[in-house]
Amino acid sequence: MTEEASTDRFNPDQPAGDPESGYRLNFDPSPSAIFHDFCGENKIEGASCPHCKKPLLRLLTLNTNDEALNIDPKTLPAVHLLYCWNCSIPFGEFSYKIENDGSVVLLQYPPRMPESEHGPDGPRDGYTGEFVHRRVSLDGIGQEEQARYKDFWNSIDADPYDCGVDTIGHQVGGFPFIYNPCRTKCPSCTEDMPLLASICDDATGNSPDSVSECDSFVGNCGVQMVFHFCRKCSIVTGYSSCD
Ligand SMILES: [Zn+2]
Ligand SMILES: [Zn+2]
Repeated sequence: MTEEASTDRFNPDQPAGDPESGYRLNFDPSPSAIFHDFCGENKIEGASCPHCKKPLLRLLTLNTNDEALNIDPKTLPAVHLLYCWNCSIPFGEFSYKIENDGSVVLLQYPPRMPESEHGPDGPRDGYTGEFVHRRVSLDGIGQEEQARYKDFWNSIDADPYDCGVDTIGHQVGGFPFIYNPCRTKCPSCTEDMPLLASICDDATGNSPDSVSECDSFVGNCGVQMVFHFCRKCSIVTGYSSCD
């Protein structure tokens, strides 16, 4: 966190993003861009669901060679955003450490809740838990839009619709609109974890409102998967939010 960002945390429910400036995922990246991996097969060592005993859903692997992330690639080659919609993981905080070889060690996850879990059939008809791999790049959010989202984040009782911040595409860093934001402490150093990314319910682009159900993750455009990241400990904590 920069000093400027750490004094700016007005929102009692959601930490500031780090990087402080927000980025959108560009699903049609320029050939010269730095690519990040959206969905696709998860071959990450250690990234298996502790309940389902199968690879976790790989939502996004951020390539730290992208200077936008401000993470030293020699220390950490990648940051993986992982989830599971078949078991109890959506019903609490889910944390894992990323080792400096890119492998993952799970740290904490909610206990089984068989009566509430979606189970092998998943959260919607036709769910397979597998989504097509797409290469994406990070596009900086324009200054005016960024300021609008930050003003809303700083406000106490503003209406997101009136402020024009209720669009929930995928976002890395910044101050994304989240329906039910939560703060979270790092399970290792216990410090407040900055927000790293919010992933919306569109497995093919940035439009959860208009995507067909078969191209969504869960078939509910109000669902977001939110990830916080402690840079000091290389630990990710994820949770889901819903409107
Ligand atoms: Zn699972
Ligand atoms: Zn930590």
